[in-house]
Amino acid sequence: MRAIRFLGDRRVEAFEAPEPRPAAGEVVIAMRAAGICGSDLGFLYRPSPAAASEAPSAYDRWIPNAAGVIPGHEPAGVVVELGPGVHHLAVGDRVACYHITGCNECRACRAGWMLHCRTYRSYGWQRDGAFAERMVADAKSCIRLPESVSFVDGAYCACGAGTAFQATKRGAPTGGETVAIFGLGGVGLAGVLFAKAAGARVIAVDPIAMRRDLAGSLGADETIDPLTANAVEIIYDLTEGEGAHLSIDYSGSSAGRLAALDCARVWGRSVFVGERNLTTIDPSPQILHKQLTLHGSWVCSWPVMDELVQLLACDALPLENAVTHRFPLERINEAFRVADSGE
Ligand SMILES: [Zn+2]
Ligand SMILES: [Zn+2]
Repeated sequence: MRAIRFLGDRRVEAFEAPEPRPAAGEVVIAMRAAGICGSDLGFLYRPSPAAASEAPSAYDRWIPNAAGVIPGHEPAGVVVELGPGVHHLAVGDRVACYHITGCNECRACRAGWMLHCRTYRSYGWQRDGAFAERMVADAKSCIRLPESVSFVDGAYCACGAGTAFQATKRGAPTGGETVAIFGLGGVGLAGVLFAKAAGARVIAVDPIAMRRDLAGSLGADETIDPLTANAVEIIYDLTEGEGAHLSIDYSGSSAGRLAALDCARVWGRSVFVGERNLTTIDPSPQILHKQLTLHGSWVCSWPVMDELVQLLACDALPLENAVTHRFPLERINEAFRVADSGE
């Protein structure tokens, strides 16, 4: 079957991979949609082969990205083959995969947080993933998609939108609150949608005009270009000098994180979601003196992804409107170039 691999330095190559076979407890999924995640770009697509060994990423320090693994960790498709012992899925089921598998026995796994299993294996990182015609998945990681939830929605929930949903739950915005969102990539745009669905007023900040426009079309009440205006000052102006009730940084940039802390009001909440980049924080003025609650939020659990899928089925959240481009597998080089450009 066709699959792709990263060569480093922004190069992607198609190759002929062995046909995947399911072991006990596994299924084969024919891919219908697979999302590109910011972590694919930052950790796998952009770095040179040498850079990975010179400066191991946070992921690498924990469990190394396995060489030769087919990338892609936002899988959605149709079950085409069942391994022995799989009874709760059938051939033809439409599914998306929670993208992390674990031992299924430890406390983290039993809580659905396979992400924190000490033998964590993620599709596209430590085991073959979604940028291929077919993929082997643990039946336990599959979430059946209701008819009204598209494959694109399902793939989006597997990492990007699931991550934003969990971060929104951590920040817990409510009606009447102002939420400032920094970074409007795939995760941040879903975050705009969820904060609006919670009834909050949303101020969305990103240097790329096309992303701000998209945030506006998804319901953001105000958008700010941080390169031409002081986002923190504007947020104070828009909140009668008090600041945002909740700020969420999806950018992972030092500037985004600092602005998220600085725009939050006294007794406010902040959530850090975006990855990478060192950031120097002055804890007294930026956190302590504001009585600020600061959450770190990383991906989501299986139950939270499932909750999001069920929410999409019963509540018509236009998640797919945040998806700007669709490419067939043969044009994945172009897909990565577009994703890398930020537009
Ligand atoms: Zn991801
Ligand atoms: Zn475990």
